[in-house]
Amino acid sequence: METPPSPQLVRLALHGGAGDPPTHPAAQSAQRDALRRIATETLALLRGGAGALDAVTHAVEQLEQCPLFNAGVGAVLNREGLPELDAAVMRGVDRACGAVAAVCRVKSPVRLARAIMERTPHVFFAGAGAEQLAAQLGLERVEPDYFITEARRQQLAAARARGAITLDHDHAPSPGAGGTDEAFGTVGAVARDAQGHLAAATSTGGLTNKLAGRVGDTPLIGAGTFADDASAALSCTGTGEAFIRCGFGHAVHARLAWSGWHLEHACAEALDAVRRYRGRGGCIAVDRAGRLALPFNAGGMYRAWVEADGLVRVAIGPGGDGA
Ligand code: ASP
Repeated sequence: METPPSPQLVRLALHGGAGDPPTHPAAQSAQRDALRRIATETLALLRGGAGALDAVTHAVEQLEQCPLFNAGVGAVLNREGLPELDAAVMRGVDRACGAVAAVCRVKSPVRLARAIMERTPHVFFAGAGAEQLAAQLGLERVEPDYFITEARRQQLAAARARGAITLDHDHAPSPGAGGTDEAFGTVGAVARDAQGHLAAATSTGGLTNKLAGRVGDTPLIGAGTFADDASAALSCTGTGEAFIRCGFGHAVHARLAWSGWHLEHACAEALDAVRRYRGRGGCIAVDRAGRLALPFNAGGMYRAWVEADGLVRVAIGPGGDGA
């Protein structure tokens, strides 16, 4: 039986990717402002009684619509110059989940992931079949150009010139600064609602100059996205291949649920494995007790979070710099 809702239980964390923080102050402040605005809105939903799944879906959809981050509008481009978008959602109470990979005509990939979870008997759709399903389910569709920004075209040209496949944050021209600075990334959200239930959502364009058809950790349940009320909700960002190899989300779950580890310790251990597999990045996580962990092994991670004091905090660099 459900206990009566208690707004004191509410916790929230968002990320906008990990990588090299931008050197241009204008880029930093645009991203911080966007994170703060979306965290504040999402917190109000949670305080008003919204479930964790509704809250994280809302937060990630808003982040997808913000061109400063590598998801939805402003997503990075693959080697063919096209966006290929991945997303996932997961509900901790029953491990219901939905995921989508390699779509470029669905306005909100996270909404499609949610619809897959709620309106089909399946978990994971990719490519043409996923696009067709979105049309059948009546989700809003767009042309691929809708997602493409000039900054991402420049970023792809720079990566092609170097023959590199790059994390979204590395050497990306910054739309916030109107220049050619670094930074911005994959987006995600985790929450504990007033009932004490957990959920996670993540959405990404993946890596700049990736081969067509490449899928990273974001839509893989148990890698880049995971939630279980018995342990924690997690959303990852970084080198997807390394997060897949170490099964990041499930590795953290197993240490909490089976070995009784502390959340921070479990996330740090999983991030060590990411490093061993030559990856970098970070995660946001909230456990059943309401503890948050926001670790990263890159120069920074764009993040906003709300703990027991109910304040929205935003930071990019290593310090917890800023209420
Ligand atoms: N993890 C994402 C991927 O590999 C990229 C990122 O987080 O920036 O697709």
